[in-house]
Amino acid sequence: MIIIMERDATAANIQAVTELLKEHGFKVIVHEGDVHTVIDALGDKTTLSPGRIDAMDGVKKIKFIREPFRLASRDRQAEDTVIEFENGVKIGGANRPVSIVGPCSVEDDYDGLLQVALAAKELGCQFLRGGAFKPRTSPYDFDGLGEKALKYLARAKEETGLLIVTELMDSADLDMVCDYADVIQIGARNMQNFKLLKSVGNCNKPVILKRGPASTIREFLLAAEHIMYNGNEKVILCERGLKSFDNAFTRNLLDISAIPVIKKYSHLPIIVDPSHGTGQRYLIEPMAKAGLVVGADGVMVEVHHNPPQALSDGKQSLSIPQFKEVFTRLNTLIDTLHLEKSMAISCVD
Ligand code: PEP
Ligand code: MN
Repeated sequence: MIIIMERDATAANIQAVTELLKEHGFKVIVHEGDVHTVIDALGDKTTLSPGRIDAMDGVKKIKFIREPFRLASRDRQAEDTVIEFENGVKIGGANRPVSIVGPCSVEDDYDGLLQVALAAKELGCQFLRGGAFKPRTSPYDFDGLGEKALKYLARAKEETGLLIVTELMDSADLDMVCDYADVIQIGARNMQNFKLLKSVGNCNKPVILKRGPASTIREFLLAAEHIMYNGNEKVILCERGLKSFDNAFTRNLLDISAIPVIKKYSHLPIIVDPSHGTGQRYLIEPMAKAGLVVGADGVMVEVHHNPPQALSDGKQSLSIPQFKEVFTRLNTLIDTLHLEKSMAISCVD
């Protein structure tokens, strides 16, 4: 890190900073400029909280050379992380982008869920998603069927072979959710629920971590870092849109640029969720395509057997006929991109 001292920092201030750095094992080089003294501190900043230096007299600001998300960073691992499932499905790297589809909430209608799952299977999707525990803005809204929903998902898996993605909201449900899910989803609202991140960090299931609606890319990657730091490196990031000043036509602002940015700074796979990202059914196809074209490792799309009757997020869910139409086109794009991806040998920085 580089510490820039105030223009009126005293020799004693500079000495105090350099001594603290040296005590923590940093190699210190002091550059005395005409106006500011700049201190280069070379070493491992995990041994010293930057906040301690920032609080010292005479310190103007600190600049970091390395990103604070160490485990998730490309500097640590140049090659893409690839997450492999028991049935051979892989997410990340040069693998074919995956499709994760299903209703927002699993409702008390197994046949409806099965219709979606069968269509997903037919279209070559790999994962069935559905919430058993739903985070809802209003306490009066449907908040999920709990274990009954997990049992429905398990039955649908048995009938179709699709892998199951479902959200965990409470660490107390971790073991139960792990019994049914192939991937645990941490929802956008819980992206910075650090205890929850710690508990999925302590289990060995892959985790889809959704980006918080008001979080920066750095905060998003640091949330992933929490999971990895606790021992679980199988993290799949999911861009699902941000709160913006303009919600006249869309529910959220889908940050498509986050995908190539994250690809540059992290080795973790990232998927795109155009359903929550826009809140509009008609925007699912164009935004899924946009996400895939800029490098997403997969798409997550809400599909319901009867969207107008859905207990949550019907407006951003495809009906089964729409699903078939949209995914027939998306699959063509995915095939083309996959071909290009597997042929790509370099990219321009
Ligand atoms: C969901 O995937 O159903 C969900 C609630 O998503 P998010 O956490 O992105 O709002
Ligand atoms: Mn939803």
